[in-house]
Amino acid sequence: MASVIEKNQVVTFHYTLKDKDGNLLDKSVGGDPLAYLHGHSNIIPGLEVHMESKKVGDKLQVHVTPDKGYGQYDPDKRFLIARDQLPGDIELEPGMALELHAEDGETLLAAIVAIDKRAVEVDANHPMAGIDLYFEVEVMSIRDASAEEIQHGHVHGPGGHHH
Ligand code: ZN
Repeated sequence: MASVIEKNQVVTFHYTLKDKDGNLLDKSVGGDPLAYLHGHSNIIPGLEVHMESKKVGDKLQVHVTPDKGYGQYDPDKRFLIARDQLPGDIELEPGMALELHAEDGETLLAAIVAIDKRAVEVDANHPMAGIDLYFEVEVMSIRDASAEEIQHGHVHGPGGHHH
């Protein structure tokens, strides 16, 4: 019986996430809690480290700096793509996510920032890169992970992977 959070336990928690000015960025409250496998980097390191040893019902406030969150904002990840390098049959609009395939085979997800006749400006930074994150968390449940979950490195079932 799991009493505190440690490696290889499945944890569910509710959270609200705000920026330093108190603007709401994301929340689980009102929906299902988020489920993750502790100790497997399923969540950002700056939050995971504070979950260690917590119990069901514990509430915590966590400030995560970008280096322990989604990374620093990288200006080089904001760049232009010529229109003729994009398929002509899709209607492009700002905010749309594009899947880009680099020559080395890597896939990059980039959001469209601006569009003009000749080029599209995209930003491949994580939307929360460079932002200080302020979490309010409540631990909802803790259970031991199955051997299969530990092997896969993620949660199965409600709130997790289905396959
Ligand atoms: Zn799996």
